[in-house]
Amino acid sequence: SLGSEDNDVVVIGGGPGGYVAAIKAAQLGLKTTCIEKRGTLGGTCLNVGCIPSKALLHSSHMFHEAQHSFANHGVKFSSVEVDLPAMMAQKDKAVANLTRGIEGLFKKNKVNYVKGYGKFISPSEVSVDTLDGGNTVVKGKNIIIATGSDVKSLPGITIDEKKIVSSTGALALSEIPKKLVVIGAGYIGLEMGSVWGRLGSEVTVVEFAPDVVPSMDGEIRKQFQRTLEKQKMKFMLKTKVVGVDTSGDGVKLTLEPASGGDQTTLEADVVLVSAGRTPFTAGLGLDKIGVETDKLGRILVNERFASNVSGVYAIGDVIPGPMLAHKAEEDGVACVEFIAGKQGHVDYDKVPGVVYTHPEVASVGKTEEQVKAHGIEYRVGKFPFLANSRAKAIDDAEGIVKILAEKETDKILGVHIMAPNAGELIHEAVVALTYDAASEDIARVCHAHPTMSEALKEAAMAAHDKPIHI
Ligand code: FAD
Repeated sequence: SLGSEDNDVVVIGGGPGGYVAAIKAAQLGLKTTCIEKRGTLGGTCLNVGCIPSKALLHSSHMFHEAQHSFANHGVKFSSVEVDLPAMMAQKDKAVANLTRGIEGLFKKNKVNYVKGYGKFISPSEVSVDTLDGGNTVVKGKNIIIATGSDVKSLPGITIDEKKIVSSTGALALSEIPKKLVVIGAGYIGLEMGSVWGRLGSEVTVVEFAPDVVPSMDGEIRKQFQRTLEKQKMKFMLKTKVVGVDTSGDGVKLTLEPASGGDQTTLEADVVLVSAGRTPFTAGLGLDKIGVETDKLGRILVNERFASNVSGVYAIGDVIPGPMLAHKAEEDGVACVEFIAGKQGHVDYDKVPGVVYTHPEVASVGKTEEQVKAHGIEYRVGKFPFLANSRAKAIDDAEGIVKILAEKETDKILGVHIMAPNAGELIHEAVVALTYDAASEDIARVCHAHPTMSEALKEAAMAAHDKPIHI
């Protein structure tokens, strides 16, 4: 059986970190086994994260457009309605196709796939309780922990995935709630809030911090919040949830100002708890082999992704750094390159972040607040999509590009974009930052007309000298 043979690399976890590491290892000629307990590959991202959320964001956007925008474009029909089961089925189909696709990639690259729960019995042996009820021991010279992260609840709040849901429940509601309360104004809460808001829910976002998405550039964040408010999303910032009562039909929340004060109540049919995620290492047997973790439970690794235990590595959401699928993938490739005796490389300063609302918000590099905190003298170039011809042509012009460049050298420090397709537009900026480009470099690159990308060129012109179209 698989377990009796020695592997060069064993990967525990088949998410974007783990499955990419496994495929890359096999491509580098290493004998590789990947262990996954879920029954399907793709991890959080593909099964209950990035992919199903983007499916629902797209479907709900189409409904919203049909209701509110099509008529402006001269497309009329008598009525539009939501068929929620069909919408969910479309999402499920996308997920199923993609998870099976990874199984196909495993076969193509000759990665052994063991379905079951892995736990260390030594630094080179993993005991797997297989999903078919058996047990096997998988041995490997190198073992990569890619067990990812799990939903984090809040003290006193029990997630039942019906009335009080995590993102996983919010991706599979069987009815459109009349009132949805989202606890936590991070990107997952805002994305899921957008989905149900577009489908008709009254959405209130309760957040302890004074701002939405704290990692975002302050100026962009303010515009973003205003945009969401125009879409009828309500915000209760600097507010904490101090009590939850589920005894009635719905849920009654007791709220209090973050700094203390008078309590208020808020009613909801469904409450989404999106207050962050926590590294997942339950049942893995880390103590047994002595792998070090930090206070948050994250596995500590060096720049080669090696833990303190020889031959044991960790990547993705289970180690410190942004909890993002593409970051996990980069970790996976670099980790395996090191194991194969090559050079791996991930530049954590240039990992893009995207919020997939409408408009989307995407950024890379430093925010204006970070540039200031570093004491760097800088210039700002901005360009609104209201002055971009393509955005006007399609009547979807809410948004802005903001470029921060070092005053002395013109080197680009950070790029922040709010636009319908910001998540696609940002990669020109990621490449620019990777090659240490100046804003003049982007300003002098020929951009096709009419495209939204021209707004990036114009913002670069503004940072470097003057824009043409505003
Ligand atoms: P995971 O994807 O969590 O995979 C770990 C896998 O390991 C799991 O499948 C688990 O079953 C398995 N496992 C754990 N322990 C064991 C064990 N002992 N034995 C066997 N198997 C085990 N990121 C983005 O970049 N873009 C997005 O748009 C985005 N949207 C998101 C939306 C939502 C609603 C959520 C929840 C997350 C989203 N993320 C997004 C974050 C993204 O999903 C994670 O950053 C990413 O999945 C991390 O990859 P990973 O491989 O480290 O871990």
